[in-house]
Amino acid sequence: MLLGCVADDLTGATDLALMLTRAGMRTVQVMEPPKDASQLDGFDAVVVALKTRTCAPDEAVALSLASTEALLKAGARQIFFKYCSTFDSTEKGNIGPVADALLKRLGADLTIACPAFPTNKRTIYNGHLFVGDVLLSDSPMKDHPLTPMRDASLVRVLQRQTPHKVGLVSFGTVRQGSATIKAAFDAARARGESYLVVDALDDQHLVDIGAACDGLKLVTGGSGVALGLPANFVRAGLMKSAPAPTTMTAPKGRSAILAGSCSEATRGQVQCAIAAGVPTFKIDPMGIATGKFDAASIATWVSENGAKGPVLVYSSADPNAVAEAQRVLGRDKAGALVEHLLADVAKRIVNNGVTRLLVAGGETSGAVVQGLGVESLEIGPEIDPGVPWTRAVGRDLVLALKSGNFGAPDFFTKAWDRLT
Ligand code: ADP
Repeated sequence: MLLGCVADDLTGATDLALMLTRAGMRTVQVMEPPKDASQLDGFDAVVVALKTRTCAPDEAVALSLASTEALLKAGARQIFFKYCSTFDSTEKGNIGPVADALLKRLGADLTIACPAFPTNKRTIYNGHLFVGDVLLSDSPMKDHPLTPMRDASLVRVLQRQTPHKVGLVSFGTVRQGSATIKAAFDAARARGESYLVVDALDDQHLVDIGAACDGLKLVTGGSGVALGLPANFVRAGLMKSAPAPTTMTAPKGRSAILAGSCSEATRGQVQCAIAAGVPTFKIDPMGIATGKFDAASIATWVSENGAKGPVLVYSSADPNAVAEAQRVLGRDKAGALVEHLLADVAKRIVNNGVTRLLVAGGETSGAVVQGLGVESLEIGPEIDPGVPWTRAVGRDLVLALKSGNFGAPDFFTKAWDRLT
């Protein structure tokens, strides 16, 4: 094991694990800090998927440190702290406090902070984060319910979260390649800076930044900057690059889709699946609250309709329907009803012979994975950017966990082609 990663949410962890797999590392994603290092045999990289983006800073620090401890024990030579490419955080954290704690634990004096992900239109110029054509502070992230991002200067944002000095490696340096970037790290050390926001506009910049990070004990950023890290281990003769898988051998059995995301992309995918003739079962929070259907009746429907191909159970609804359910039940209760039901359905249908399961929605995926008691996922082929097939290690089950907004309209019908 070479690279140990701590991610602050589940679908972000999968996104990172996929990036590392594509860059040649045999990667496994685990839901909790691994207790037994032998679980990780044969993997070059391990990603621990935490849920620490918006919890109290103390809790985020404690969980991140425990994960790091386990990764170091398993042999990690470098730790990567992964957060969102829009730097989702508040004035109090959790990026600064977690990074501070990791720097201290690792005895490191300097790391980078680089959430850039040019493929997904997140770029950094003169320390300012752009989302597509606009500054972060003008993007929809300014209105995020939990982590509103109203300042696009990452130097300022991070400086408010840490007592250590935050500096910048600007585009003029980055464009000159890894040796110049590395020299900028040394100059920053001499100025007493502990964090460096690093500009990046395209994938080549990420590759060069990754090369410059060779030897840093801690790297922090989005999944994009992980692009350049695997090559360091190959150059050092510590691993051979593995070709990225293009298919995954799945256990024989039935297929199902559970969609609890109401995002635009998922709603489009539901419509596309209906048009393609996929059998569907629509649920809604009010129907669950009034007992119109329950997990047992839905599981029976899946058994009766799933003989020929995938079936779809979905709660995806337009914003008006969601607002109405939230008005009647409260936002948290409406969400929890759907999440619990879909997790219960997942357990039952897997017991009944579903071995190939696709889940849409970040929170929904978290609930389903927890309900199924899945502990670790081996990363397989990419279906669409950011979403791979994964294998539940030691189980007869493959899973695709899709963040709500990811995937092309035909995602629910084409995903199965990557399985053999
Ligand atoms: P995304 O990745 O699109 O954000 P999530 O699964 O993370 O999707 O979040 C969607 C949330 O909305 C979940 O808590 C889910 O239970 C809830 N939800 C799903 N369907 C409905 C609905 N019809 N009405 C209200 N809330 C819903």
